[in-house]
Amino acid sequence: MTQTEDRTSLSTEDTPLVPIEKVVALCKRRGFVYPNSEIYGGVSGIYDFGPLGVELRNNIRRYWWWSMVQLNDNILGIEGSIITHPRVWEASGHVENFVDRLVDCKNCKRRWRVDHLPAENLEQNKCPFCGGELTEPRTFNLMMETYIGVVEGERMKTYLRGEACQNIYLDYDNVLKSSRIQIPFGICQIGKAFRNEVTPGNFLFRQREFEQWDLQFFVHPSEMQKWFDYWKEYRFEWYKGIINHKDRLRFRAHESTELAHYAKQAFDIEYKSILGWQEWEGIHWRQDWDLSRHSLYSGQDLSYTDPETKERYIPWIVETSGGVDRTFLNLLLDAYEEEPPSGKDKEGRTVLRLHPWLAPVKVAVLPLQKNKEELVTTARGIYNRLKRLMVAQYDDVANIGRRYRRQDEIGTPFCVTVDFQTLEDQTVTVRERDGMTQIRLDIDELPGYLVEKVMWR
Ligand code: ATP
Repeated sequence: MTQTEDRTSLSTEDTPLVPIEKVVALCKRRGFVYPNSEIYGGVSGIYDFGPLGVELRNNIRRYWWWSMVQLNDNILGIEGSIITHPRVWEASGHVENFVDRLVDCKNCKRRWRVDHLPAENLEQNKCPFCGGELTEPRTFNLMMETYIGVVEGERMKTYLRGEACQNIYLDYDNVLKSSRIQIPFGICQIGKAFRNEVTPGNFLFRQREFEQWDLQFFVHPSEMQKWFDYWKEYRFEWYKGIINHKDRLRFRAHESTELAHYAKQAFDIEYKSILGWQEWEGIHWRQDWDLSRHSLYSGQDLSYTDPETKERYIPWIVETSGGVDRTFLNLLLDAYEEEPPSGKDKEGRTVLRLHPWLAPVKVAVLPLQKNKEELVTTARGIYNRLKRLMVAQYDDVANIGRRYRRQDEIGTPFCVTVDFQTLEDQTVTVRERDGMTQIRLDIDELPGYLVEKVMWR
């Protein structure tokens, strides 16, 4: 069941928690993430992804899809649209209940979500920052409104989806009828969601436009507990496989007061960063709530008939729901390290110890000198061959040490250096990011060697 190879586990004592500002600065400097509409002053809680960010994001998405949809025979994928019929959000309860309660500090004017206030501050009605008095809570709906149609008076008000998973319930019956799948089975989707968050912040952690991934797994009620436990462990192992600091991952069971009325249990998979222990993904017991509600509101019968026993029932659902952007942020916080000068590297370096499967650039090809034609021709030839297989960069600017450091900083797991020995025996130096170890390989062996190291399997 584990999809990942065993990676070195670093404990939290080995490296301090990384200040978020360092990651924000790296993201801007090296082209991972930019503030959206920056030339107009930006929009809080909305970001754009730059050339390296889009590669990392695509790798994160593809790896999730590969390990959820491709590896599991009982899971199918869909891609639903952002805009749906407005009744969907009435049935789901979002129009009525998707709200945050908010208080403001009368003194420092800071704004707090009531459910995020420490118990002590809540009881004493005191601001956690300055101790000032808090206002009465105000309630805000998080759904973003939009309109379908152009003629005034005929336009239909609807919403940008507040959570991506609703499309799965809407398409459940079509998937069932258009494929030969039977219960137990799951439907996966990755897609954008929009929320008018009242306290956006902490970079990518809480945004107004973000991307979610969901598995909705449909089961017979008698098998609910078994599949809940199965997916809970599966998803934990998945996250464990992509981080270095395994001891920064834990489950948090929801308190009975947090549980929805239909949920027997729920767990968050949490990651510990400079933001404290925070939710990364939720594992939810949704029972028959979603399909029953959509049956009721649409008038369509969404029950399932077992082909063998002929039993008819509304399937129960196990949901695993996480965020692409939170994964992006947590991976960078987990991978970022500033190494002091050492025997191997006299100047010290910043290194992103990203899993090679997820690293935005897999290999950099570096001619030792840029003014020696044979070196350049050979290096260009290797680069042109490798870039067909994986994301590669060609870099001939500055001395070789500087070029290694540039690649370390963006997490490139391998650098291939073409030197004078290459011209004699057709071998190159392959330098690995984490240990800075170097080996020599025949040029012809390079593609196979790198594919084995950087592609998931
Ligand atoms: P929170 O309690 O942090 O507001 P939630 O419980 O409302 O989150 P869900 O609705 O269960 O979150 O969403 C599933 C996942 O989507 C979360 O685990 C998180 O990874 C991601 N997510 C939710 N809201 C945001 C957001 N505003 N920005 C970025 N990612 C988000």
